[in-house]
Amino acid sequence: MKRDAGTVSATLQALRRTEQLRERRIVQALAGERDLLHPQVQGRVLLNFCSNDYLGLAGHPLLAEAQCAAARKWGAGAGAAHLVTGHTAEHHALEEELAEFTGREAALLFSTGYMANIGVITALTGRDEVILQDRLNHASLIDGARQSDARLLRYRHADAGDASRIAQERAERLTLVATDGVFSMDGDVAPLAALAAVARRHDAWLLVDDAHGLGVMGATGRGSLELAGVSAADAPLLVGTLGKALGSFGAFVAGDREVIGLILQRARSYIYTTALPPSVAAATRAALSLLRSEAWRRERLQAAVARFRQAAAARGLALLPSESPIQPVLVPGAGACLAASRALRERGFWVAAIRSPTVPAGTERLRVTLTAAHTDPQIDALVEALAEVLRDAPPVDVLREAAQQ
Ligand SMILES: *Cc1c(COP(=O)(O)O)cnc(C)c1O
Repeated sequence: MKRDAGTVSATLQALRRTEQLRERRIVQALAGERDLLHPQVQGRVLLNFCSNDYLGLAGHPLLAEAQCAAARKWGAGAGAAHLVTGHTAEHHALEEELAEFTGREAALLFSTGYMANIGVITALTGRDEVILQDRLNHASLIDGARQSDARLLRYRHADAGDASRIAQERAERLTLVATDGVFSMDGDVAPLAALAAVARRHDAWLLVDDAHGLGVMGATGRGSLELAGVSAADAPLLVGTLGKALGSFGAFVAGDREVIGLILQRARSYIYTTALPPSVAAATRAALSLLRSEAWRRERLQAAVARFRQAAAARGLALLPSESPIQPVLVPGAGACLAASRALRERGFWVAAIRSPTVPAGTERLRVTLTAAHTDPQIDALVEALAEVLRDAPPVDVLREAAQQ
């Protein structure tokens, strides 16, 4: 793009015209304290149905206290990269706890999940190799493959048969299969056992990015792999993020000691960046402890998901087949989806409209997310509002067909 104002403004205008312009809303803490469930936006209090704070931990006082205490001890920032002087005892203890929690030998902290995926994929793949990914994988997995010298091939969403067929054709070159555990915009769980078998058959790594499963899925919150009954041996690389169910910030990759050691040597998004603030690691440790001791949060979340699905089905809303806290409601068309989101906001509910290119055009959706903090009356009220706002939407089967592409 040439540096002239005309090109920039024409590009922005085109985004606006096609209803693809992204906008931020400023969240305020008017009462002196931010309430994640009831964010204040433009002087109005909304009920938040689109955060990833699934267990209601982000605003928990124990996290903030741990963070403040650690900031007094360690200061505001790490001061350097992990491999220079930034790797504190606080970071190290968190890595050990994450390894233990995920049942792996070792874990390595990254500053974000985006950087973790890029680091892991580029560290383990290279020229003349093939990476196989689900078509609906998170952008960070796709971008990791783009930064690698390996070739990226994509299989049909959640279709292990298609993955197996492509793997067969590239048997010699396939080195990595990567998938979201819970798909971030669809909420369904990947066919992990079948993908593990494909990866194993071709001596390839399986990388599971469980950003939305960790802390949420499985009997003890260990994530999608626990839910699917897939062992660490069958899913050797697990990426987890700490800014969603854990309510904090950061990410990690867990695996056996050797592969984690190699990632540490090679991942540029690990090596060439400042370590997380130690105080953030301390907040995450507090979250991990709550996650272990308060199973009721997961149980409440499951009940909230069930209630939403039941009420939404009774009202004829176009849900996708998801058992996770991510419960998208299809509203095809960027304009229609934005309008529905706006109409919900006017009724006091904050639900994000997800458009292309985040999801394929024609499958735009309201991405409803549920948390342990939502009450049944709040969920029922959301469903009523959705039914009202979407009363002129096309029939559910037509919508589902649109989403099958
Ligand atoms: C949110 C998300 C990430 C990125 O994690 P951040 O820590 O927010 O950078 C990676 N993968 C998936 C599937 C996600 O949903």
